[in-house]
Amino acid sequence: MSGRKTYTQIYYLMITVQEALSIILSQSRNFGSTTVSINDATGRVLAEDIYADRDYPPFHRAAMDGFALRSEDFLEKGIRRYTIIEDLFAGGTSTLQPKEGQCLRIMTGSATPAAYDAIIRIEDCQLEGQQVTFNVTALKKGQNIARQGEDAKAGALILTKGTRLFAPEVAALAVAGRSTVLVHQFPKIAVISTGDEVVPVDQDIKPHQIRDSNSYALASFLHQYGLEIACRKLVTDDKELLRRVIQDVLTYDLVIFSGGVSMGEADFVPAVLADCGVQPLLHKVKLKPGKPLWFGKLPAGGVVFGLPGNPMSCQVCYKIFIEPFLRKCFDLPEALKLHLPLLVPKKKNAKLNQYFPCVIEGKGLRPVVINGSGDITSTLRSHGLALHPLEKEDLSEGDLVEFIFW
Ligand code: AMP
Ligand code: MG
Repeated sequence: MSGRKTYTQIYYLMITVQEALSIILSQSRNFGSTTVSINDATGRVLAEDIYADRDYPPFHRAAMDGFALRSEDFLEKGIRRYTIIEDLFAGGTSTLQPKEGQCLRIMTGSATPAAYDAIIRIEDCQLEGQQVTFNVTALKKGQNIARQGEDAKAGALILTKGTRLFAPEVAALAVAGRSTVLVHQFPKIAVISTGDEVVPVDQDIKPHQIRDSNSYALASFLHQYGLEIACRKLVTDDKELLRRVIQDVLTYDLVIFSGGVSMGEADFVPAVLADCGVQPLLHKVKLKPGKPLWFGKLPAGGVVFGLPGNPMSCQVCYKIFIEPFLRKCFDLPEALKLHLPLLVPKKKNAKLNQYFPCVIEGKGLRPVVINGSGDITSTLRSHGLALHPLEKEDLSEGDLVEFIFW
Protein backbone atom coordinates (compact mmCIF):
# COMPACT_ATOMS: atom_id res chain seq x y z
CA MET A 1 0.00 0.00 0.00
CA SER A 2 1.34 3.45 -0.91
CA GLY A 3 0.23 5.58 2.02
CA ARG A 4 -3.13 6.80 3.22
CA LYS A 5 -5.85 8.13 1.02
CA THR A 6 -5.17 11.77 0.18
CA TYR A 7 -7.81 12.34 -2.48
CA THR A 8 -10.94 14.27 -1.83
CA GLN A 9 -13.55 11.59 -2.05
CA ILE A 10 -16.56 12.63 -4.11
CA TYR A 11 -19.65 11.39 -2.33
CA TYR A 12 -22.51 10.27 -4.48
CA LEU A 13 -26.08 9.82 -3.42
CA MET A 14 -26.79 6.13 -3.27
CA ILE A 15 -29.04 5.35 -6.22
CA THR A 16 -31.37 2.43 -6.87
CA VAL A 17 -30.39 -0.59 -8.94
CA GLN A 18 -32.84 0.53 -11.62
CA GLU A 19 -31.30 4.00 -11.79
CA ALA A 20 -27.80 2.53 -11.89
CA LEU A 21 -28.78 0.11 -14.61
CA SER A 22 -30.23 2.85 -16.76
CA ILE A 23 -27.01 4.91 -16.43
CA ILE A 24 -24.95 1.84 -17.33
CA LEU A 25 -27.16 0.79 -20.24
CA SER A 26 -27.10 4.33 -21.63
CA GLN A 27 -23.36 3.80 -22.22
CA SER A 28 -23.85 0.64 -24.29
CA ARG A 29 -22.54 0.67 -27.84
CA ASN A 30 -21.93 -1.70 -30.70
CA PHE A 31 -18.43 -3.07 -31.12
CA GLY A 32 -18.81 -3.57 -34.88
CA SER A 33 -19.24 -6.85 -36.71
CA THR A 34 -17.06 -9.53 -38.20
CA THR A 35 -17.47 -12.58 -40.42
CA VAL A 36 -16.78 -16.00 -38.89
CA SER A 37 -17.05 -19.59 -40.01
CA ILE A 38 -20.16 -21.30 -38.66
CA ASN A 39 -17.72 -23.70 -37.00
CA ASP A 40 -16.67 -20.84 -34.74
CA ALA A 41 -20.07 -19.22 -34.36
CA THR A 42 -21.36 -20.95 -31.20
CA GLY A 43 -22.29 -18.49 -28.45
CA ARG A 44 -21.81 -15.50 -30.74
CA VAL A 45 -24.51 -13.00 -31.62
CA LEU A 46 -25.85 -12.67 -35.11
CA ALA A 47 -25.31 -9.25 -36.73
CA GLU A 48 -27.40 -9.89 -39.86
CA ASP A 49 -30.84 -11.26 -40.67
CA ILE A 50 -30.92 -14.69 -42.29
CA TYR A 51 -33.54 -15.69 -44.86
CA ALA A 52 -34.53 -19.11 -46.16
CA ASP A 53 -32.70 -19.58 -49.48
CA ARG A 54 -35.40 -22.00 -50.70
CA ASP A 55 -38.45 -23.81 -49.38
CA TYR A 56 -37.81 -26.02 -46.33
CA PRO A 57 -38.25 -28.84 -47.01
CA PRO A 58 -37.27 -28.09 -50.60
CA PHE A 59 -39.44 -30.97 -51.92
CA HIS A 60 -42.25 -33.21 -50.65
CA ARG A 61 -39.97 -35.23 -48.42
CA ALA A 62 -40.76 -38.83 -47.52
CA ALA A 63 -40.92 -38.87 -43.73
CA MET A 64 -40.99 -42.68 -43.41
CA ASP A 65 -39.56 -45.75 -45.09
CA GLY A 66 -42.50 -47.42 -46.81
CA PHE A 67 -44.65 -47.35 -49.93
CA ALA A 68 -45.90 -44.32 -51.78
CA LEU A 69 -49.28 -44.72 -53.46
CA ARG A 70 -52.17 -42.72 -54.90
CA SER A 71 -54.65 -42.17 -52.05
CA GLU A 72 -57.46 -42.37 -54.60
CA ASP A 73 -56.59 -46.04 -55.25
CA PHE A 74 -56.78 -46.85 -51.57
CA LEU A 75 -59.70 -44.67 -50.48
CA GLU A 76 -62.03 -44.65 -53.48
CA LYS A 77 -61.18 -47.87 -55.25
CA GLY A 78 -60.52 -49.83 -52.05
CA ILE A 79 -57.32 -51.43 -53.40
CA ARG A 80 -55.18 -53.05 -50.68
CA ARG A 81 -52.74 -55.12 -52.74
CA TYR A 82 -50.26 -53.17 -54.89
CA THR A 83 -47.46 -53.87 -57.34
CA ILE A 84 -44.11 -52.21 -56.63
CA ILE A 85 -42.93 -50.58 -59.85
CA GLU A 86 -39.78 -48.85 -58.65
CA ASP A 87 -37.47 -48.25 -55.65
CA LEU A 88 -36.61 -44.70 -54.69
CA PHE A 89 -33.71 -43.87 -52.41
CA ALA A 90 -32.97 -40.50 -50.76
CA GLY A 91 -31.12 -38.34 -53.26
CA GLY A 92 -32.56 -40.26 -56.24
CA THR A 93 -35.32 -39.48 -58.73
CA SER A 94 -38.09 -41.68 -60.12
CA THR A 95 -38.93 -42.16 -63.79
CA LEU A 96 -42.15 -44.20 -63.96
CA GLN A 97 -45.75 -42.99 -63.82
CA PRO A 98 -47.93 -45.21 -61.58
CA LYS A 99 -51.10 -46.77 -62.91
CA GLU A 100 -53.99 -48.02 -60.80
CA GLY A 101 -52.85 -50.45 -58.08
CA GLN A 102 -49.16 -49.57 -58.46
CA CYS A 103 -46.88 -48.15 -55.80
CA LEU A 104 -43.32 -46.99 -55.19
CA ARG A 105 -40.99 -48.37 -52.54
CA ILE A 106 -39.66 -45.17 -50.96
CA MET A 107 -36.97 -44.42 -48.39
CA THR A 108 -37.04 -41.61 -45.82
CA GLY A 109 -35.64 -38.37 -47.21
CA SER A 110 -36.58 -39.04 -50.84
CA ALA A 111 -38.34 -36.41 -52.92
CA THR A 112 -41.83 -37.94 -53.27
CA PRO A 113 -42.85 -37.80 -56.96
CA ALA A 114 -45.93 -35.66 -57.67
CA ALA A 115 -47.98 -38.70 -58.80
CA TYR A 116 -48.06 -40.07 -55.23
CA ASP A 117 -49.84 -38.41 -52.34
CA ALA A 118 -49.50 -40.75 -49.35
CA ILE A 119 -46.96 -43.10 -47.82
CA ILE A 120 -47.77 -46.20 -45.81
CA ARG A 121 -44.93 -47.15 -43.50
CA ILE A 122 -43.12 -50.43 -43.97
CA GLU A 123 -44.33 -51.69 -40.56
CA ASP A 124 -47.93 -51.76 -41.89
CA CYS A 125 -47.25 -53.96 -44.93
CA GLN A 126 -46.93 -57.56 -45.93
CA LEU A 127 -44.46 -58.14 -48.72
CA GLU A 128 -44.39 -60.98 -51.29
CA GLY A 129 -41.86 -60.35 -54.05
CA GLN A 130 -43.02 -57.29 -55.96
CA GLN A 131 -46.45 -57.41 -54.36
CA VAL A 132 -47.35 -55.56 -51.18
CA THR A 133 -50.53 -55.79 -49.11
CA PHE A 134 -51.34 -53.04 -46.63
CA ASN A 135 -52.61 -54.13 -43.21
CA VAL A 136 -54.21 -50.81 -42.45
CA THR A 137 -57.77 -49.68 -43.09
CA ALA A 138 -57.34 -45.94 -42.65
CA LEU A 139 -55.30 -43.62 -44.80
CA LYS A 140 -55.00 -39.86 -44.86
CA LYS A 141 -54.09 -38.03 -48.05
CA GLY A 142 -50.58 -36.60 -47.55
CA GLN A 143 -49.71 -38.88 -44.64
CA ASN A 144 -46.01 -39.41 -43.94
CA ILE A 145 -45.04 -36.75 -46.46
CA ALA A 146 -43.46 -33.51 -45.23
CA ARG A 147 -44.89 -30.91 -47.64
CA GLN A 148 -42.51 -28.69 -49.55
CA GLY A 149 -42.21 -25.36 -47.67
CA GLU A 150 -44.20 -26.53 -44.62
CA ASP A 151 -41.31 -25.57 -42.34
CA ALA A 152 -40.42 -22.28 -44.05
CA LYS A 153 -41.06 -20.71 -47.43
CA ALA A 154 -38.22 -19.44 -49.62
CA GLY A 155 -37.41 -15.86 -48.58
CA ALA A 156 -38.85 -16.21 -45.06
CA LEU A 157 -36.91 -14.57 -42.22
CA ILE A 158 -35.58 -17.49 -40.19
CA LEU A 159 -33.02 -15.83 -37.87
CA THR A 160 -32.93 -12.21 -36.80
CA LYS A 161 -30.06 -9.91 -35.82
CA GLY A 162 -29.36 -10.14 -32.10
CA THR A 163 -29.90 -13.91 -31.91
CA ARG A 164 -27.36 -15.96 -29.98
CA LEU A 165 -26.10 -18.89 -31.99
CA PHE A 166 -26.36 -22.33 -30.48
CA ALA A 167 -26.80 -25.76 -32.08
CA PRO A 168 -30.27 -25.19 -33.66
CA GLU A 169 -29.23 -21.79 -35.07
CA VAL A 170 -25.90 -23.07 -36.41
CA ALA A 171 -27.77 -25.95 -38.06
CA ALA A 172 -30.23 -23.47 -39.64
CA LEU A 173 -27.30 -21.46 -41.03
CA ALA A 174 -25.90 -24.60 -42.65
CA VAL A 175 -29.36 -25.41 -44.08
CA ALA A 176 -29.44 -21.92 -45.60
CA GLY A 177 -26.09 -22.58 -47.27
CA ARG A 178 -24.23 -20.14 -45.03
CA SER A 179 -20.75 -21.43 -44.23
CA THR A 180 -19.82 -18.00 -42.85
CA VAL A 181 -21.92 -15.50 -40.96
CA LEU A 182 -21.77 -11.93 -39.73
CA VAL A 183 -21.59 -11.72 -35.92
CA HIS A 184 -21.00 -8.99 -33.39
CA GLN A 185 -17.34 -8.18 -32.83
CA PHE A 186 -15.92 -8.86 -29.37
CA PRO A 187 -15.10 -5.88 -27.18
CA LYS A 188 -11.55 -5.45 -25.91
CA ILE A 189 -11.71 -6.33 -22.23
CA ALA A 190 -9.39 -5.78 -19.27
CA VAL A 191 -9.90 -7.35 -15.86
CA ILE A 192 -7.82 -5.90 -13.04
CA SER A 193 -7.84 -7.41 -9.58
CA THR A 194 -6.60 -5.17 -6.80
CA GLY A 195 -5.58 -5.79 -3.22
CA ASP A 196 -2.40 -6.09 -1.16
CA GLU A 197 -3.72 -9.35 0.25
CA VAL A 198 -4.62 -10.86 -3.13
CA VAL A 199 -2.17 -13.29 -4.75
CA PRO A 200 -2.23 -15.18 -8.05
CA VAL A 201 -3.75 -18.64 -7.99
CA ASP A 202 -0.47 -20.42 -8.77
CA GLN A 203 1.67 -18.62 -6.19
CA ASP A 204 2.65 -19.74 -2.67
CA ILE A 205 0.25 -18.25 -0.19
CA LYS A 206 0.74 -16.95 3.37
CA PRO A 207 -1.93 -17.40 6.07
CA HIS A 208 -3.09 -13.76 5.88
CA GLN A 209 -3.40 -13.71 2.11
CA ILE A 210 -6.21 -14.79 -0.19
CA ARG A 211 -6.17 -16.06 -3.75
CA ASP A 212 -7.50 -14.03 -6.65
CA SER A 213 -10.75 -15.77 -7.54
CA ASN A 214 -12.67 -12.80 -8.91
CA SER A 215 -10.75 -12.52 -12.15
CA TYR A 216 -11.50 -16.21 -12.78
CA ALA A 217 -15.19 -15.79 -11.99
CA LEU A 218 -15.32 -12.87 -14.41
CA ALA A 219 -13.36 -14.75 -17.08
CA SER A 220 -15.78 -17.65 -16.75
CA PHE A 221 -18.87 -15.42 -16.97
CA LEU A 222 -17.43 -13.66 -20.03
CA HIS A 223 -16.58 -16.98 -21.60
CA GLN A 224 -20.27 -17.82 -21.76
CA TYR A 225 -20.45 -15.17 -24.50
CA GLY A 226 -17.23 -16.32 -26.13
CA LEU A 227 -15.45 -13.29 -24.68
CA GLU A 228 -11.77 -13.39 -23.81
CA ILE A 229 -9.88 -11.07 -21.51
CA ALA A 230 -7.19 -9.19 -23.46
CA CYS A 231 -5.45 -7.74 -20.42
CA ARG A 232 -5.55 -9.41 -17.01
CA LYS A 233 -3.58 -7.91 -14.12
CA LEU A 234 -3.28 -8.17 -10.41
CA VAL A 235 -2.19 -4.94 -8.72
CA THR A 236 -1.44 -4.08 -5.10
CA ASP A 237 -3.20 -1.14 -3.44
CA ASP A 238 -0.60 1.27 -4.74
CA LYS A 239 -1.77 4.50 -6.36
CA GLU A 240 1.17 4.76 -8.70
CA LEU A 241 0.85 1.15 -9.92
CA LEU A 242 -2.90 1.58 -10.33
CA ARG A 243 -2.33 4.73 -12.33
CA ARG A 244 0.08 2.91 -14.65
CA VAL A 245 -2.33 0.02 -15.18
CA ILE A 246 -5.18 2.40 -15.95
CA GLN A 247 -3.02 4.26 -18.47
CA ASP A 248 -2.51 0.94 -20.30
CA VAL A 249 -6.22 0.26 -20.70
CA LEU A 250 -7.57 3.72 -21.54
CA THR A 251 -8.54 2.65 -25.06
CA TYR A 252 -10.27 -0.58 -24.04
CA ASP A 253 -14.01 -1.10 -24.54
CA LEU A 254 -14.65 -2.64 -21.15
CA VAL A 255 -12.45 -2.45 -18.06
CA ILE A 256 -13.46 -4.31 -14.92
CA PHE A 257 -11.75 -3.64 -11.60
CA SER A 258 -12.29 -5.92 -8.65
CA GLY A 259 -11.70 -4.53 -5.16
CA GLY A 260 -10.60 -1.14 -3.92
CA VAL A 261 -13.88 0.73 -4.46
CA SER A 262 -15.22 0.76 -0.89
CA MET A 263 -14.59 3.14 1.99
CA GLY A 264 -11.34 1.60 3.27
CA GLU A 265 -8.14 3.56 3.62
CA ALA A 266 -6.60 1.58 0.74
CA ASP A 267 -9.57 1.79 -1.63
CA PHE A 268 -7.90 4.02 -4.20
CA VAL A 269 -9.55 2.83 -7.39
CA PRO A 270 -12.29 5.53 -7.83
CA ALA A 271 -9.92 8.41 -7.05
CA VAL A 272 -7.14 7.17 -9.31
CA LEU A 273 -9.60 6.46 -12.12
CA ALA A 274 -11.02 9.97 -11.87
CA ASP A 275 -7.46 11.30 -11.76
CA CYS A 276 -6.69 9.49 -15.02
CA GLY A 277 -9.58 11.19 -16.81
CA VAL A 278 -12.19 8.48 -16.36
CA GLN A 279 -15.53 10.23 -15.92
CA PRO A 280 -17.36 8.90 -12.85
CA LEU A 281 -21.02 8.20 -13.58
CA LEU A 282 -22.06 6.47 -10.40
CA HIS A 283 -20.71 5.22 -7.10
CA LYS A 284 -22.72 3.17 -4.62
CA VAL A 285 -25.99 1.50 -5.32
CA LYS A 286 -28.83 0.37 -3.06
CA LEU A 287 -27.83 -3.21 -3.60
CA LYS A 288 -26.75 -6.07 -1.37
CA PRO A 289 -24.29 -7.55 -1.97
CA GLY A 290 -22.57 -5.05 -4.26
CA LYS A 291 -23.26 -1.67 -2.66
CA PRO A 292 -19.85 -0.04 -3.42
CA LEU A 293 -20.20 -0.45 -7.22
CA TRP A 294 -18.42 2.26 -9.23
CA PHE A 295 -19.02 2.99 -12.91
CA GLY A 296 -17.46 5.48 -15.27
CA LYS A 297 -16.62 6.34 -18.84
CA LEU A 298 -13.19 6.27 -20.46
CA PRO A 299 -12.15 9.25 -22.57
CA ALA A 300 -12.05 7.02 -25.67
CA GLY A 301 -15.64 5.83 -25.18
CA GLY A 302 -15.18 2.57 -23.29
CA VAL A 303 -16.56 1.96 -19.81
CA VAL A 304 -15.10 1.01 -16.46
CA PHE A 305 -16.82 -1.04 -13.78
CA GLY A 306 -15.31 -0.99 -10.30
CA LEU A 307 -16.70 -4.03 -8.52
CA PRO A 308 -16.39 -4.67 -4.80
CA GLY A 309 -13.85 -7.38 -4.02
CA ASN A 310 -16.05 -9.74 -2.04
CA PRO A 311 -16.56 -12.75 -4.29
CA MET A 312 -20.32 -12.78 -4.06
CA SER A 313 -20.56 -9.01 -4.54
CA CYS A 314 -18.36 -9.30 -7.60
CA GLN A 315 -20.52 -12.09 -9.06
CA VAL A 316 -23.81 -10.34 -8.28
CA CYS A 317 -22.56 -7.08 -9.84
CA TYR A 318 -21.56 -8.97 -12.99
CA LYS A 319 -25.01 -10.57 -13.27
CA ILE A 320 -26.99 -7.43 -12.43
CA PHE A 321 -24.96 -4.85 -14.34
CA ILE A 322 -22.23 -6.16 -16.62
CA GLU A 323 -24.15 -8.96 -18.30
CA PRO A 324 -27.13 -6.69 -19.13
CA PHE A 325 -24.67 -4.07 -20.41
CA LEU A 326 -23.03 -6.62 -22.73
CA ARG A 327 -26.38 -7.96 -23.88
CA LYS A 328 -27.51 -4.44 -24.78
CA CYS A 329 -24.24 -3.85 -26.69
CA PHE A 330 -24.94 -7.05 -28.63
CA ASP A 331 -28.61 -6.15 -29.29
CA LEU A 332 -29.64 -9.16 -27.22
CA PRO A 333 -32.90 -9.12 -25.25
CA GLU A 334 -32.78 -9.26 -21.45
CA ALA A 335 -31.61 -12.56 -19.97
CA LEU A 336 -34.32 -14.99 -18.95
CA LYS A 337 -36.08 -14.01 -15.70
CA LEU A 338 -38.41 -16.37 -13.88
CA HIS A 339 -40.95 -15.58 -11.20
CA LEU A 340 -41.01 -18.46 -8.76
CA PRO A 341 -42.56 -18.97 -5.33
CA LEU A 342 -40.37 -18.99 -2.26
CA LEU A 343 -40.50 -22.27 -0.35
CA VAL A 344 -39.71 -20.59 2.97
CA PRO A 345 -40.33 -17.10 4.40
CA LYS A 346 -37.49 -14.58 4.26
CA LYS A 347 -36.86 -11.67 6.62
CA LYS A 348 -35.99 -8.22 5.33
CA ASN A 349 -32.64 -7.20 6.73
CA ALA A 350 -31.57 -4.23 4.64
CA LYS A 351 -33.40 -1.40 2.90
CA LEU A 352 -31.69 -2.37 -0.34
CA ASN A 353 -32.37 -4.54 -3.37
CA GLN A 354 -31.09 -7.78 -1.99
CA TYR A 355 -30.01 -10.68 -4.19
CA PHE A 356 -29.76 -14.07 -2.56
CA PRO A 357 -28.60 -17.37 -4.07
CA CYS A 358 -31.27 -20.05 -4.35
CA VAL A 359 -31.74 -23.59 -5.51
CA ILE A 360 -34.74 -24.52 -7.61
CA GLU A 361 -36.46 -27.31 -5.71
CA GLY A 362 -39.58 -28.78 -7.29
CA LYS A 363 -41.64 -25.78 -8.35
CA GLY A 364 -40.11 -23.25 -5.95
CA LEU A 365 -37.00 -21.54 -4.69
CA ARG A 366 -35.05 -22.40 -1.57
CA PRO A 367 -32.47 -19.82 -0.46
CA VAL A 368 -29.07 -21.33 0.34
CA VAL A 369 -27.59 -20.55 3.73
CA ILE A 370 -24.94 -17.85 3.51
CA ASN A 371 -22.71 -16.16 6.06
CA GLY A 372 -22.05 -13.09 3.98
CA SER A 373 -20.85 -11.75 0.67
CA GLY A 374 -17.35 -13.10 1.31
CA ASP A 375 -18.62 -16.69 1.08
CA ILE A 376 -17.15 -18.86 -1.61
CA THR A 377 -18.87 -22.20 -1.15
CA SER A 378 -22.47 -21.11 -0.46
CA THR A 379 -23.13 -20.11 -4.05
CA LEU A 380 -21.84 -23.46 -5.30
CA ARG A 381 -25.10 -25.05 -4.21
CA SER A 382 -27.29 -22.51 -6.02
CA HIS A 383 -28.81 -22.33 -9.49
CA GLY A 384 -29.00 -18.55 -9.56
CA LEU A 385 -30.03 -15.39 -7.77
CA ALA A 386 -33.41 -14.32 -6.44
CA LEU A 387 -34.36 -10.74 -5.64
CA HIS A 388 -35.77 -9.38 -2.41
CA PRO A 389 -36.80 -5.95 -3.68
CA LEU A 390 -35.92 -2.81 -1.78
CA GLU A 391 -39.55 -1.77 -1.26
CA LYS A 392 -40.74 -5.18 -0.09
CA GLU A 393 -40.88 -6.02 3.63
CA ASP A 394 -40.51 -9.62 4.85
CA LEU A 395 -41.29 -12.22 2.21
CA SER A 396 -43.72 -15.03 3.00
CA GLU A 397 -43.70 -18.61 1.87
CA GLY A 398 -45.33 -18.74 -1.58
CA ASP A 399 -44.45 -15.15 -2.53
CA LEU A 400 -43.34 -14.93 -6.14
CA VAL A 401 -39.81 -13.61 -6.52
CA GLU A 402 -37.73 -12.71 -9.54
CA PHE A 403 -35.03 -15.26 -10.30
CA ILE A 404 -32.13 -15.32 -12.77
CA PHE A 405 -29.81 -18.21 -13.54
CA TRP A 406 -26.07 -17.87 -12.93
P1 AMP B 1 -12.26 -4.74 -1.19
O1 AMP B 1 -13.45 -4.54 -2.07
O2 AMP B 1 -10.99 -4.44 -1.88
O3 AMP B 1 -12.43 -4.01 0.08
O4 AMP B 1 -12.21 -6.28 -0.84
C1 AMP B 1 -13.26 -6.87 -0.12
C2 AMP B 1 -12.99 -8.31 0.18
O5 AMP B 1 -12.89 -9.04 -1.02
C3 AMP B 1 -11.71 -8.56 0.92
O6 AMP B 1 -11.95 -9.55 1.90
C4 AMP B 1 -10.79 -9.06 -0.14
O7 AMP B 1 -9.79 -9.88 0.36
C5 AMP B 1 -11.71 -9.79 -1.07
N1 AMP B 1 -11.15 -9.76 -2.43
C6 AMP B 1 -10.66 -8.67 -3.04
N2 AMP B 1 -10.20 -8.97 -4.28
C7 AMP B 1 -10.44 -10.29 -4.46
C8 AMP B 1 -10.19 -11.19 -5.52
N3 AMP B 1 -9.61 -10.78 -6.66
N4 AMP B 1 -10.56 -12.48 -5.39
C9 AMP B 1 -11.15 -12.88 -4.24
N5 AMP B 1 -11.41 -12.09 -3.20
C10 AMP B 1 -11.05 -10.80 -3.27
MG1 MG C 1 -9.05 -4.31 -1.39
